[in-house]
Amino acid sequence: MAKSKIEEYAKIIRPQNFDELMLLAEKVRGRRLRMVNATSVGGGVAEILTRVVPLFNELGIKTKWEAIKGSGEFFGVTKAFHNALHGSKTDITEQMLNIYNETNKANLADMSFDDDVVIIHDPQPAGLIAAKENSKAKWVWRCHIDTSHPQPDVWNFLKGFVEKYDASIFSTPWFAKGLPIPQYFIYPAIDPLAEKNRELSAHEINAVLQKYKLDRSRPIITQVSRFDYLKDPLGVIETYKLVKKHIDCQLVLAGGGASDDPEGGQVLKEVQEAAGNDKDIHVLLLPDFADLEINALQRASTVVLQKSLREGFGLTVTEALWKAKPVVASAVGGITLQVIHNFTGLLVHSIEGAAYQIRYLINNPQAAKKLGEYGREHVREKFLITRKLRNYLLLFLALENAGKDIIQL
Ligand code: UDP
Repeated sequence: MAKSKIEEYAKIIRPQNFDELMLLAEKVRGRRLRMVNATSVGGGVAEILTRVVPLFNELGIKTKWEAIKGSGEFFGVTKAFHNALHGSKTDITEQMLNIYNETNKANLADMSFDDDVVIIHDPQPAGLIAAKENSKAKWVWRCHIDTSHPQPDVWNFLKGFVEKYDASIFSTPWFAKGLPIPQYFIYPAIDPLAEKNRELSAHEINAVLQKYKLDRSRPIITQVSRFDYLKDPLGVIETYKLVKKHIDCQLVLAGGGASDDPEGGQVLKEVQEAAGNDKDIHVLLLPDFADLEINALQRASTVVLQKSLREGFGLTVTEALWKAKPVVASAVGGITLQVIHNFTGLLVHSIEGAAYQIRYLINNPQAAKKLGEYGREHVREKFLITRKLRNYLLLFLALENAGKDIIQL
């Protein structure tokens, strides 16, 4: 009999962690779970749900996933919320709040919540909590944003919804808020068996390099990200230009869009202008589900850069670390959970700092290799999807046994 896919993870993680996952799954088998977010493709949340939902179903937790619907205007409003929650100064008007409320109301009319647990991801669908009074489910709000320094008016508006939930999840205690509901902390994670992260043959990698006309004999610096100001793609080009003064290298800026991110087109335009006609800057607008390409580009990179100005977590960093790549990344948000300076990668605070560290890594391949190896083990221990599934299963048990001092397993 063919082995079920879940068993493949036993070869990658520690046996006791795998056994614990199976034990916990047994305890909550048959429960119904609903995940709701803002988009079915593009960005880290959709990336995680694409993998978590089938794996939960395989473990016997009946899991459904829906993305709310909204107009371009609505996603313009929620992108402004997103930026403001990350701490960027953003003007929020009464009309924007009305658009938010009306869209959440309209979505409610088409949805039902006959589940045991409902997990609502991020601010866009947070207003669905209005359905809680007619539902038997436990409601959880999962925040993927660095909410440590939010713009107060936006956080206070959102808090009005969040405090009605049974519990909340943040990516790290650094993002904890003053809330009257329990707060759980669960790191995001990647799936090592996904197309984006599986091992690739040299042939597969070379085919992608050829497709994008990249030259393997010269260093490749790569940033994979949506075209978003907070990912600082213009800063990436400035960084590359500083490195290029000393080293003949190539830059790959690869990204696609997300249906809940209306700013992408404008950012891409500015990036293309900044790239000008430098043949060694490869701005790649990738289609949805370009997982094999991203995997190959990350694996072929000499250095992976993540120059974000703000970052909830940064799955692209996890993906690069798992591929044992030397990573240079901004010391912001969840990136600092992953990149431990001088151990699993190099943290930077400026364009000049990023350029300096990239040059260091290109000139010192042995040091770069060591960072990559430690980075991979750090991800194995903390940021693989099996750990995240265990955390969720424990959360379900905690919600079912709220108020009990002892939970019998
Ligand atoms: N990603 C992708 N295609 C792109 C750009 C990004 O598949 O063109 C993926 C990327 O590999 C990662 C996720 O989208 O898995 C982005 O997650 P991250 O946490 O880095 O950033 P977010 O977009 O959620 O801010």
